[in-house]
Amino acid sequence: MFRYWSKTKKFAEKMLFPDNIKCIFCGVDIDNFEERPYCDECAKILPFNNGHRCEICDQPILDEANVCDLCQKEKKNFKKAFCPFLYEGSVKNLVLKYKDSNCRYLAQPLANIISKCLEGIKIDIITYIPMTEKKEKKRTFNQSKLLAEEIGKILNCPVLCCFAKIKDKVSQKNLIFKERRQNIIGTFIAKDVNLNRNQNVLIVDDVLTTCSTVSYCAGLIYPKVNNIYVCGIAREYVRPEKTLFKTKTFFHQLNK
Ligand SMILES: [Zn+2]
Ligand SMILES: [Zn+2]
Repeated sequence: MFRYWSKTKKFAEKMLFPDNIKCIFCGVDIDNFEERPYCDECAKILPFNNGHRCEICDQPILDEANVCDLCQKEKKNFKKAFCPFLYEGSVKNLVLKYKDSNCRYLAQPLANIISKCLEGIKIDIITYIPMTEKKEKKRTFNQSKLLAEEIGKILNCPVLCCFAKIKDKVSQKNLIFKERRQNIIGTFIAKDVNLNRNQNVLIVDDVLTTCSTVSYCAGLIYPKVNNIYVCGIAREYVRPEKTLFKTKTFFHQLNK
């Protein structure tokens, strides 16, 4: 009985003081949550991805080029990627919290921030990077699917499951660009979904790194649709292989 009461109390507290009126980064109360889910103080220091960046994969570029070295070397199967943040500091912590601690309530405010980057882009269908059934069961939810559903509500777009992940391969984390590409082949398949040449599709992922996963999935539906766009919460900077041995100045600039 007591346990039941304490559960009910917890639920009531959650209803009265929900997490979704607080800054998603530092937890202070804010008034304009619907407009912007973080406080003024956090806004000053958040790593926004708003500098000069690749017009295809959205990663920061240090020189004047419009397209990064990786995109110049290998064509992506999507038209353009959008990520509001860089994957570092408080953003990295928040993404990990969202993914690993089952903080589903973060999907809505994160979708809200991502949607603002998509203004002016015509999207007809939203889809997402799937997990294997086994992994989704274990984790209880797919963070990219949840984001896609929230973005779908904001943009008033249907969300379709266009891909299936049929096996978990080696973790991508410690693989270099070429190995990631090899690693991905045969991992995803396209599902039998009705798509047509007039549709613009948005593929939602959580964090974009080399973009090999999203580009591979985009390639599976590429001939069937009009444009493919990609979005994620954050962009992780990928050092092009050839710049790995450059001077310290390069990394210094990078970390600024
Ligand atoms: Zn804050
Ligand atoms: Zn690029």
